[in-house]
Amino acid sequence: MSAVIPIQSAGCETLPVKSEKGQREVFCGLTGIIWLHRKVQDAFFLVVGSRTCAHLIQSAAGVMIFAEPRFGTAIIDERDLSGIADANDEIDRVVQELLVRRPDIKLLFLVGSCPSEVIKLDLSRAAQRLSKVHHPQVRVLNYSGSGIETTFTQGEDACLASWVPELVQPVTTSKTLMVVGTLADVVEDQLRTLLHKMGVSQVSFFPPRRSTQLPTIDASTQYILAQPFLADTARCLEAKGAKRIDAPFPLGAKGTTRWLWAVAQNFGVSQALFDEVTKAPRQRAEQSMARHAAQLQGKKISFFPDSQLEIPLARFVQEELGMTLSEVGTPYLHRQIMAADMALLPPGTRIVEGQDVDKQMDRCKSDQPDLVVCGLGLANPLEAQGFTTKWSIELVFTPIQGYEQAGDLAALFSRPLTRRLKLVA
Ligand code: SF4
Repeated sequence: MSAVIPIQSAGCETLPVKSEKGQREVFCGLTGIIWLHRKVQDAFFLVVGSRTCAHLIQSAAGVMIFAEPRFGTAIIDERDLSGIADANDEIDRVVQELLVRRPDIKLLFLVGSCPSEVIKLDLSRAAQRLSKVHHPQVRVLNYSGSGIETTFTQGEDACLASWVPELVQPVTTSKTLMVVGTLADVVEDQLRTLLHKMGVSQVSFFPPRRSTQLPTIDASTQYILAQPFLADTARCLEAKGAKRIDAPFPLGAKGTTRWLWAVAQNFGVSQALFDEVTKAPRQRAEQSMARHAAQLQGKKISFFPDSQLEIPLARFVQEELGMTLSEVGTPYLHRQIMAADMALLPPGTRIVEGQDVDKQMDRCKSDQPDLVVCGLGLANPLEAQGFTTKWSIELVFTPIQGYEQAGDLAALFSRPLTRRLKLVA
């Protein structure tokens, strides 16, 4: 049987989407620093913000306290500021001290936040000034992780979008593939190996592991998203001429197969070679998911809007684990980017964009799902009401893409139910 699973037009873009605006319960974009700093090994993320910001990233990335961290905070909201100049002096001083102490840093991001003192600052000018001062040792860029402007995964989007202007044209023009979105190194290696076996050898990953290994870009670059929350980055890449390969996201056996097949079709890989390369890992993925699918089959699941991964995850749990979707909430819906996954959702799936948390809680009580995927702030209240929950942030922190991670991804959904059964036994 062919490995390629076609994208039917069943649910398609005609799925009704309800929009809500109300109180939200989500993290701010600073959270992205947690996985970005692990990925880009010579970058440093300097949050220009308050003690609240410092606490957020330190508690979320507590383990890094014992390692040499690649993030920090320039606290500026508690100073007796006589003006913007003081704040700029403070940033300059912190950066100077940091770069003397850490000559290994090659790329420094100034990350904006919420306090009014920070909003008044022009961080892009500060970044330009510092780039000149510290040239050529370090390049300084800026983006906003403020909770007023960004939620959770949008921090990565803002970071990568600020970085795209640094991508230069290649010396010679040839068709290349760029995989866009932070992936764990192990996932990156697996995908690269599969693509190489298919003959797609000109593959780069953005963000790269080292800032000095930036991919090049021109009109012959085709890019494919590995993460669904990168709409601004996608726009910036297209402004530089790159073309997006449309595909569902690489989750589970089927999602990964379709994602790889979308690349294969664009790079002239034959069906026979594609099947040969993907057969064994696809079967491994199917086997590793089987036990979890047996447990999850027919169970009801609701997604509260948080990470923008909700629609691809809903496709995965419904199609590959046999779960029933009560509601799929997403903080933002980028229809083009989500089109391929939405086309695979059953007709009538309730998709809700945005959040009105009280209304969503009411619907959840009436749906009575077996499992709720939600942000940290809502997990305790929901558990107190007898619901079984999964923190959506775990699905961002854990390597879940690709064939070899399919079993781990399925386990993230089955484990909370197993835990609940043990508790009530
Ligand atoms: Fe800092 Fe604003 Fe995030 Fe709070 S919401 S941690 S003030 S950036």
